[in-house]
Amino acid sequence: MSPTAERIYLSPPHMGEQERALLLEAFDSNWIAPLGPHVDAFEREFAEKVGVPHAVALSSGTSALHLALLMLGVGRDDEVLTSTLTFAATANAITYVGAKPVFIDSTAESWNMDPALLAEELDACARRGKLPKAVIAVDLYGQSADYDAIAKACERHGVPLLEDAAEALGASYRGRSCGAFGAMAAFSFNGNKIITTSGGGMLVSHNKQWTDRARFLSTQARDPVPHYEHTHIGYNYRMSNLLAAVGRGQLRVLDQRVEQRRAVNRFYRETLGKEPGITFMPEAEYGRFNGWLTCVTVNPTQFGASREQIRVQLESLNIEARPVWKPMHLQPVFKDCRVRGGDTAKALFDRGLCLPSGSAMKPEQLERVLQGIRAARKP
Ligand SMILES: *Cc1c(COP(=O)(O)O)cnc(C)c1O
Repeated sequence: MSPTAERIYLSPPHMGEQERALLLEAFDSNWIAPLGPHVDAFEREFAEKVGVPHAVALSSGTSALHLALLMLGVGRDDEVLTSTLTFAATANAITYVGAKPVFIDSTAESWNMDPALLAEELDACARRGKLPKAVIAVDLYGQSADYDAIAKACERHGVPLLEDAAEALGASYRGRSCGAFGAMAAFSFNGNKIITTSGGGMLVSHNKQWTDRARFLSTQARDPVPHYEHTHIGYNYRMSNLLAAVGRGQLRVLDQRVEQRRAVNRFYRETLGKEPGITFMPEAEYGRFNGWLTCVTVNPTQFGASREQIRVQLESLNIEARPVWKPMHLQPVFKDCRVRGGDTAKALFDRGLCLPSGSAMKPEQLERVLQGIRAARKP
């Protein structure tokens, strides 16, 4: 295989004709000024798809998390418990409101927050007399966290639950869509997610007061009078009408994208799954994975090459693969934060690799990745 072969990306955007038509329609209507009919329609259609009544379209998933924490009144010196194995945006949002993240280890069963460790940490907080202001559960790599157990632990202490479903649009837990479980949930349409608006996010909730207030704060907190009157600090976090048009087109093909990514996952399982030392992120029995990224762990002695040797080999063949998220408790910027456990997430980082998982991947491309992984093994 020539090193100049066409690059295979980890998770590239996958657009179709409907997205193009809707975008041009928005353009030609001159609804370029941020808000417009596509934003309203995208919110309505998105809420219906996820099965949650209210949605606010925003500029990013991170802004959705930030607003959700503001809605719950999280502030200076409060604590918020979250998964250590996540993308930094989850923990960053906690710091935006002046609060401190406290990290919880993963369970090997799903790589998501370990509900038993969450319960232990909440009990310890209660004994100390300082409960966290919120818990943010993350649906990692497109697989739901265990919401029955997590919600039970939160409810016992009256701590509100937020869902970071940025990676999990189209995934489900016991037959209900991810995003339906917390007080509020955040989604992302960043360029690498299962569907994309190039950049964007959505906040959803069962509680209209929260989404109304988030909508108000996300549009510079302009009080409803003719002149510019402000009684609150606002943000410029709204999604533009052009991008909402793209989002509506993408939402229409979401189910296809899930099936396509799951087929990529099936290919890797049926081929790589036979190799010694390769273990896939398990699909927990309680839910359905959206296939966003196929992730494996590599036992270097059994396989004959480490995850890093595989990654470097793939890169030399112009194939993008990425290590599993580096846990937040190991990040220099969060080194002073408390963590409960952490060894499971660390082991997943040390040995974990995310493989190219795009929904438009062709059989030849999958074969190239497979051969590349095998070639990392030195004879
Ligand atoms: C992508 C992502 C975010 C942030 O979404 P943006 O739209 O990029 O701001 C938050 N949390 C997780 C787990 C993510 O993967």
